[in-house]
Amino acid sequence: MRYDVAVIGGGPSGATAAAILAKAGISTILIERNLDNVKPCGGAIPLGLIEEFSIPEPLVEKKLSRMSVRSPKGRIISMEMPNGYVGMVRRERFDSYLRDKAVRLGADIREALVKNIESHDGGYRITLSKGLPPVEASYIIGADGANSRTASELHFPENELQVIAMQQRFSYCSELKSYEDLVEIWFDAEVSPDFYGWIFPKTDHIAIGTGTEFRKHDLKALQKRFIEKMGLTEKPYLDEAAKIPMKPRKSFTQENAILVGDAAGLVTPANGEGIFFAMRSGKLGAEAMIEHIRHKKPLSAYEKNFRKLYAQIFFGLQVLQSVYYRNDRLRESFVAICQDRDVQQITFDSYLYKKMVPAPWSVQMKIFMKNIYHMTKGN
Ligand SMILES: Cc1cc2nc3c(=O)[nH]c(=O)nc-3n(C[C@H](O)[C@H](O)[C@H](O)COP(=O)(O)OP(=O)(O)OC[C@H]3O[C@@H](n4cnc5c(N)ncnc54)[C@H](O)[C@@H]3O)c2cc1C
Repeated sequence: MRYDVAVIGGGPSGATAAAILAKAGISTILIERNLDNVKPCGGAIPLGLIEEFSIPEPLVEKKLSRMSVRSPKGRIISMEMPNGYVGMVRRERFDSYLRDKAVRLGADIREALVKNIESHDGGYRITLSKGLPPVEASYIIGADGANSRTASELHFPENELQVIAMQQRFSYCSELKSYEDLVEIWFDAEVSPDFYGWIFPKTDHIAIGTGTEFRKHDLKALQKRFIEKMGLTEKPYLDEAAKIPMKPRKSFTQENAILVGDAAGLVTPANGEGIFFAMRSGKLGAEAMIEHIRHKKPLSAYEKNFRKLYAQIFFGLQVLQSVYYRNDRLRESFVAICQDRDVQQITFDSYLYKKMVPAPWSVQMKIFMKNIYHMTKGN
């Protein structure tokens, strides 16, 4: 049998794309190398995503509206989201829910590693592991994460910038009690010289992690320092690590194939947020694929649409990262700016729904002046 579309990778981007295609009656196969895969991830998702994709309540294990940021000197700014929350999910449950949904809507699923992809009879032939028969499909959606095999087999441009992130899971204990309902972010070169450290509470554990540019610093040493600085004596019961692509590929669309999610590099700089963009790109990609199959509209519409919707957010966060993550004095200034209520409001609004809401002119001027003040002070 030849499928219309083969979706390679069953994380949030691939499972979302497969569900939308199958629901539209497009014959779809979802290929995932390990159906028990637990993607190393903080699992923080914004309210906008929960609403748009109708994520069931039981999957959102925590709804956190309290957040604090900590500066290199230990200054802590506490914030409260007035109209929303960060949802915490566990990827082992979240991903299997999304995959099951795709199957319920009519997608076939196969557990196998994609080894190579070749052009075949106007479409593709996909070779699988375990001696399984190859899969044939007219179109491909590459959703196979930061180390995408699809991208390399189909010669997409390289993923230019990657962070490597590690996270440890701790059982709740008296030392971690105060974090039960609080997201805390650490801006501190000893924890991460170019990214940040995080403390994310889940129902049955607390995830503590940090990241840094790939091959630049000793990630394990940074994580160790983070735990020491927290004064934590409890031992983790699980260590996990993975890459995060921090820049969209120069192009993620071809005539008959597209990349979505991490495979396309769709994670925002500065905060490393990827689940929202994985699911949004999965959705936009699948919709463009349906239009292409039904009405011959070019697949490039997907990439254009994605860039139109989110280029501004990616650019804004890139600027923020390159300005404020350079040294501890600038990080100190960044945390100081976070004390401003208007800055908090703008940050929460844009995080929750990924819309750049323009602030009134007077607020923009005030924030601009504060930025200048803190940057000069920081330098
Ligand atoms: C430590 C860490 C913490 C993070 N925390 C957050 C967070 O709190 N919030 C947030 O929004 N983002 C976070 N991210 C980023 C987020 O995890 C990713 O952006 C998101 O998982 C991307 O989804 P995806 O479906 O595109 O890719 P993935 O989730 O990576 O899924 C890819 C899938 O493809 C499969 N696969 C790979 N190769 C093949 C192959 N050859 N054949 C078949 N299958 C294959 C894999 O098994 C996997 O299931 C974090 C990342 C890391 C590393």
